[in-house]
Amino acid sequence: MNMPIYMDNHSTTKVDPGVIEEMLPYFTVHYGNAASRNHTFGWDADKAVEAARERVTKIIGADSREIIFTSGATESNNLALKGVVEMYVEKGNHIITQVTEHRSVLDTAKRLEKSGINVTFLPVDSNGLVDPDDVRKAITDRTVLISIMLVNNEIGVIQPIEEIGKIAKERGILFHCDATQGIGKVPVDVQTMGIDLLSYTAHKLYGPKGIGALYVRRKNPRVRLSPIIDGGGHERGMRSGTLNVPGIVGFGKACEIAMKVMKEESARLLSLRERLRKGITDSLEEVYLNGHPARRMPGNLNLSFAYVEGESLLMGLKEIALSSGSACTSATLEPSYVLQALGVSPELAHSSVRFGLGRFNTEEEVDYVINRVTETVNRLREMSPLYEMAKAGVDLKQVRWRK
Ligand code: PMP
Repeated sequence: MNMPIYMDNHSTTKVDPGVIEEMLPYFTVHYGNAASRNHTFGWDADKAVEAARERVTKIIGADSREIIFTSGATESNNLALKGVVEMYVEKGNHIITQVTEHRSVLDTAKRLEKSGINVTFLPVDSNGLVDPDDVRKAITDRTVLISIMLVNNEIGVIQPIEEIGKIAKERGILFHCDATQGIGKVPVDVQTMGIDLLSYTAHKLYGPKGIGALYVRRKNPRVRLSPIIDGGGHERGMRSGTLNVPGIVGFGKACEIAMKVMKEESARLLSLRERLRKGITDSLEEVYLNGHPARRMPGNLNLSFAYVEGESLLMGLKEIALSSGSACTSATLEPSYVLQALGVSPELAHSSVRFGLGRFNTEEEVDYVINRVTETVNRLREMSPLYEMAKAGVDLKQVRWRK
């Protein structure tokens, strides 16, 4: 077994060797600018970009003319929200999103709010799911966009995108979906899901960092966007800037591989995830699953270990790369806003750990992680006076601590 163990695949993924192989000649041999129209270097680069565009669109059931390459999903989300709001300003000034979106949607929506746009942030239930009926009820005559993610990056839950897409269509409102965590992991089809704009990024599906895409529907309806980056008019004027040819080639290859292996890989990851969940919950008490138990992406497991700080647990597991539900900032240790939106208490949110299984994880690694997590949680609980009190039958919620 190779150490350290990487089990943080929602954060980013290792680049697949097949992807690297395909990218290399675009650094050293075909290094032309895809916009150079008068020599073979440019033509070769352009040809590679267009071939990759086909692959990147196929995975979402779209047409290659409907894709804009960006620097990643953060930019795609910014472009979708800001681009639609600016373009459709005459039609309305209201957008709908929900509280567990990625920061690149939430913070963009908050910035738009400051410039006078009304934003509805819908709640989620205790499983982390949005109620499509809430979406329906939030729509007004001034609504121009609904933005709901496909798969949550912390708890892996899959939102009811098809139902929301249907509602958006019925009311003639554009529907944007941040599908960053879902592409290549769960089936996505922009037609059956009624999606008009979709964000994704290569580095979550074993491609390189710094390259992403925004799908923009061309018919039924034709979506128009105001660019947020002005310049040479690349990507049909919607995103200027010299194209990242090796990145785009890698993104295309990553999508092609994902399409081929998705079914088998999902089944394998689901079985590894269940092995991990069972292994941990069978050997430790007071471990709680965060997010819907079944409606979640196969590789995601998010657990709270009562009486243990997630950060301390990770410190005790230095040879395993995991992620905790606390965001360390300089002044505060904030528990995850996603878990809090589900109604998870701040204590249990602080005790959460995200296990992100991916293509290169093995059963042997899962078994090692089960043992190390169990051992470390037991050790930390042994040192915890609160755990001792709880074991002795004290109801900690009733305790009145001296001020
Ligand atoms: N949306 C979601 C749901 C994500 O998980 C991420 C990455 N953590 C992003 C957007 C941003 O993607 P990128 O890193 O490509 O900007």
